[in-house]
Amino acid sequence: MPEDKDRPDTVGHGESESADEYEKVCFLCRRPESKAGKMIELPNNIHICMDCMQKSFDSMNNGNINYTDLINNLPPNMGMIDLSSLQNRVPERQRLKKRKEEKKESKKSFSIKDIPPPHKIKKQLDEYIIGQEHAKKVMSVAVYNHYKRVFATDTDVEIEKSNMLMIGPTGSGKTYMVQTLARLLDVPLAITDATSLTEAGYIGDDVESVVSKLLAAADNDVERAEHGIIFIDEIDKIAKKKNTNQRDVSGEAGQQGMLKLLEGSDIEVPVGANSKNAMVPLTTVNTRNILFICGGAFPDLENVIKDRLTKSSSIGFQSELRDKYDGDKNILDKVMTEDLRTFGMVPEFLGRLPVVFTLQGLTEDMLVQILKEPKNAILKQYKKLLELDEVKLEFEDGALRAIARRALEKDTGARALRAILEEYMLDIMYEIPKDDSIGEVIITEEYIEHTGGPKILLRGQDIPMLTTQQ
Ligand code: ADP
Repeated sequence: MPEDKDRPDTVGHGESESADEYEKVCFLCRRPESKAGKMIELPNNIHICMDCMQKSFDSMNNGNINYTDLINNLPPNMGMIDLSSLQNRVPERQRLKKRKEEKKESKKSFSIKDIPPPHKIKKQLDEYIIGQEHAKKVMSVAVYNHYKRVFATDTDVEIEKSNMLMIGPTGSGKTYMVQTLARLLDVPLAITDATSLTEAGYIGDDVESVVSKLLAAADNDVERAEHGIIFIDEIDKIAKKKNTNQRDVSGEAGQQGMLKLLEGSDIEVPVGANSKNAMVPLTTVNTRNILFICGGAFPDLENVIKDRLTKSSSIGFQSELRDKYDGDKNILDKVMTEDLRTFGMVPEFLGRLPVVFTLQGLTEDMLVQILKEPKNAILKQYKKLLELDEVKLEFEDGALRAIARRALEKDTGARALRAILEEYMLDIMYEIPKDDSIGEVIITEEYIEHTGGPKILLRGQDIPMLTTQQ
């Protein structure tokens, strides 16, 4: 039940929009007009659907009004008949935008012509994502095909959904790629963890919460949400456990619970809240045209692949072969559905993720590139920040390599970069604004290795000032 503090309607973006854009919601059963049918209007913006009205009449006629129910449905701190305090009691974020009446008009906003061809999608991804050439290519084609399928309603051939499975180490850019893609295509995106979808035990409820998140990302516009993307991370965590005699119920049930979602079904979701309760309006979102992308690090999958490859190569020389595969850095590229099955993914689940591809672990060179090349690279951001103080910031190549080496040690891919850099930049960002005479700062390898300090140049000087070890 929304608290009083949720009540003010001044919060949010809806204020300037006409009230006509939002649906009426039944005061008793919380269903919107599109589901419950025409509403009867009562004073103070209260609406009651025909069903609830009928039920009230029926119970009155039978003489068995359930006062307990009636009282339970009233908000806290409210007397029995205080209609004025009911005014506008649905918070802004829980109001549901009406579906557009004309289908054609909504297509105008996002049509097949708006989807860039794969080579253009990839080119845009290139601006943000370093390396991962194969993954970017596969993803661009799959997304292009997905949206073609969404809009090609008149074909007699049923085009299969191109849900994807991304396999790659932590911090190699899986989430970032999906985020970038959704932004480029201007479609809503919801990100969730596979473990959180199943942890609660009651799967139905949690599956709804991710669709509800997507609806929120689409500004409560059901049609936009139905063309969105859902990214389910850590999918490998719900694999069935190997080498145990017990049945692994949670993993298997988790995957089974998601099947319907991936395939396409009507999901009833709360609007503007992540749980269903009596006071939250509900709507139905169909997941048929939602693109699902699953991602996971799949640790140990390499060994599963190696085992298969060594076994399949018939007689003898097994150890020799194993050595050969041990040295193969791109072993993950050789993944096949049967390896994922051995890993613990159920066949029905894999069947709904037809596009499988891998991302590579990041190398030192790639990490250096990530620091400086993407459109919104971390170095560019720091340079910009200091530029606002009219101070130039430079990094020596050795310094960048040292940062990359440190990140590699942490084994969390590019994720470690920002934290490491922040640690070094803190002092710089703190000290520089103190002294107006400083014109340039050069971050040296020694500074990163803790054997020296950064070089500082005063305005109008070419020779760096010596700084002491930090
Ligand atoms: P994960 O593969 O675990 O989902 P993320 O996508 O969350 O990894 O990556 C963490 C951060 O590292 C991203 O926000 C991004 O800034 C950076 N990053 C990772 N991989 C790349 C890449 N290939 N190119 C550019 N930045 C990257």
